Amino acid sequence: MKPISKIAAAIAPSATVAVDTLAKQMKADGIDVIGFGAGEPDFPTPDCIKVAAIKAIGDNKTRYTPAAGIVPLRKAICTWMEKQYGITYQPSQICVTSGAKHNVFVALQAICNPGDEVILPAPYWVSYEEAIKMAGAVPAIVQTTEETRFKMTADMLEQAITPNTKAIILTNPSNPTGMLYSREELEALAAVVLRHDLYVISDEIYDQLVYAGEFVCFATLSDEIKQHTITINGASKSFAMTGWRIGFAAANDEIAKAMANYLSHSTGNPSTISQYAALEAYSSEEDLASKMQLAYTRRRKYFLERISKLDGVSCLEPDGAFYIFMNIKQLLGRTIQGVQINSSNDFAKALLEKGLVAVVPGEAFGAPGYLRWSYATSMENIREGLDRLEKFLSE
Ligand code: PMP
Ligand code: GLU
Repeated sequence: MKPISKIAAAIAPSATVAVDTLAKQMKADGIDVIGFGAGEPDFPTPDCIKVAAIKAIGDNKTRYTPAAGIVPLRKAICTWMEKQYGITYQPSQICVTSGAKHNVFVALQAICNPGDEVILPAPYWVSYEEAIKMAGAVPAIVQTTEETRFKMTADMLEQAITPNTKAIILTNPSNPTGMLYSREELEALAAVVLRHDLYVISDEIYDQLVYAGEFVCFATLSDEIKQHTITINGASKSFAMTGWRIGFAAANDEIAKAMANYLSHSTGNPSTISQYAALEAYSSEEDLASKMQLAYTRRRKYFLERISKLDGVSCLEPDGAFYIFMNIKQLLGRTIQGVQINSSNDFAKALLEKGLVAVVPGEAFGAPGYLRWSYATSMENIREGLDRLEKFLSE
């Protein structure tokens, strides 16, 4: 048989999805595993959103919609952006997609030619690297360290630029590190971006989950930078709507149109019922996120307190999102529970098998030596999971 496409053959499966699927399967098989793998809110979707979806079904809102989403939802997103960040978009500049992951993919398809380089600061969310490759482009990884709080500086960006550089991807706050860029840091990056005429994909899906510092929407830095920026956001994290699959992008006219054209030939449109649910989420007067934010704040504090008491592991205090990025480098080379631990992959495997705790190894994020723990899970699970880690390390 002829080989399948080179691009498809080279795609690695998502490690975050794989860890989560494995933990869920182990649980279904009756194994008492605690999953810290998925970055998925453990809260139910707020009732008013569910009611809006049920009403949409009753009202027969079950047909195709415009490829980039129903106009009322795109208008509601514009109003929401204006209210949150004082930035003005037209509904025609908004693309609603089947989740923000799909929007990252479509944005890259819209701007990249084969061979274009896309600068990706590591640690990075697992799907960017593959999405860049699927667009025929080349990921240009910029390794950051704890020294800059895992943030790419303007100097690092400048150094990584070649004549083939087309775009950069920023995640703010970051998955997997939880770090937040300050206004000054973003302004310094923006100056380099404009000097080299690059696009910026600014993934701001965790903008509602910030515990320390000020979140700055990249596109608000100036009118010029807004033209160069594709802002990615969505309902999954802010409104606990992961399964509804609604994300959005805000971009200039040319890019938004190209993305909408792409969508018209691929998904057709995101689920109509989910769009009506998201319309309620983005236009609700109620602060739907605050209860969840409070719970994450408490869990983050508890996590950090427990980690500070453990030998051999450490982490920087995350500013946002719901991840702890744990440094385990001191433990590499040791034998734990009879298993030789040479990498964070080894550690995650042993912790799952011997400690019944599922975490994502740093290798998935281009950062070996670390483990990502999601605290989008109950306090009870966090307490028990950290007890298990402690026991795993002490035996
Ligand atoms: N971007 C980042 C940084 C994420 O962590 C996620 C979580 N999956 C997404 C995008 C995509 O979210 P979704 O597709 O559920 O909207
Ligand atoms: N964004 C989440 C994570 O990083 C969900 C899983 C995924 O889509 O990668 O775990």
